[in-house]
Amino acid sequence: MDIAVLPLAPEQMKARVADESKLGFGRQFTDRMFLAEWSVDRGWHSARIKPYEPFVLDPAALVFHYSQEIFEGLKAYKWQDNRIALFRPEMNARRFNHSAARLCMPEVPEELFLDGIDRLVSLERDWIPTAPGTSLYIRPTMIAVEPVLGVKPSDHYYFYVIMSPVGAYYAAGFKPVSIMVEDRYVRAVPGGTGDAKTGGNYAASLKAGLEAKKKGYDQVLWLDGRERRYIEEVGAMNMFFAYGTHIVTAPLTGSILSGITRESVLRLALELGCTVEERMIDVEHLLQDMKSGAVTEAFGSGTAAVVTPVGRFCYKDECLTVGNGGVGTITQRLYDTLTGIQTGTIEDRFGWIRFVE
Ligand SMILES: *Cc1c(COP(=O)(O)O)cnc(C)c1O
Repeated sequence: MDIAVLPLAPEQMKARVADESKLGFGRQFTDRMFLAEWSVDRGWHSARIKPYEPFVLDPAALVFHYSQEIFEGLKAYKWQDNRIALFRPEMNARRFNHSAARLCMPEVPEELFLDGIDRLVSLERDWIPTAPGTSLYIRPTMIAVEPVLGVKPSDHYYFYVIMSPVGAYYAAGFKPVSIMVEDRYVRAVPGGTGDAKTGGNYAASLKAGLEAKKKGYDQVLWLDGRERRYIEEVGAMNMFFAYGTHIVTAPLTGSILSGITRESVLRLALELGCTVEERMIDVEHLLQDMKSGAVTEAFGSGTAAVVTPVGRFCYKDECLTVGNGGVGTITQRLYDTLTGIQTGTIEDRFGWIRFVE
């Protein structure tokens, strides 16, 4: 499909944040965006790159009422040699369509998804920050825009991509987080939408997050929705536990988001000489293993922070220190290797990098 490039007037160009240490996450957006539309009678059409600007949407648009919405998150990195790298964007395209199918939305042809991002990133290349740890965050999104109050799949959608230069997550060095195991609220149940990247999952998680913050914890760790017994995931991260060099994570049972960082960590860990296991993790057993010292490290994985060390683990108001409460060796090696591959300082032997022309 042709992608039209609409002109960008000088007054539509924004001032940049000059100090890359002050970027933060997702607060500033680039000059342009990508937009394509789907309708029942025309399928995908009108793909274009246009100035970044607000949508005019009917207040009855289905997305506002019944949350027919999905999204993705990935990053572009500018390498020292000025090449621009994306990390496994095909996986985002595939996962986007998995989410689309669950939400009864049209699939976006993988080529359109990837071409749209390539072209947009290429045009906006000057927006990619270069300070260590920084990147250009890319947010593909699809929303239902048909104005009707009947509950049904929309007959009209916007697929769009916006981008935001983001700062180093660990500007002041790795900071282990505290997590609270949530034993009251649940995030997802088997048969629900837990394995789709859809806004509704996040809306439903806000309350538990707020209550955890009030009690002084950084993040919520969700248990399975049926028995509230098995570890699932944390906020927007999948969870890993290291027993020495043996690494354990929850299996993809349908209520967990299939993280691309998760999959990459599992493959990298093997390369680094670890053994890996996907199995149900009973929270009571895990606690015992932490008390006995068998669990040596815990960390989360996700695109935003890549790898996040967990220093404190709290369940029913009992708090345990994981390992020595600092950053474990395996956590550190996984972080260094993954970010090294993403930024071009470590050879990509997996074929994970896609360059933008
Ligand atoms: C996006 C997301 C993740 C992490 O996935 P990555 O592909 O590694 O970024 C984990 N859990 C949830 C709920 C998410 O939305």
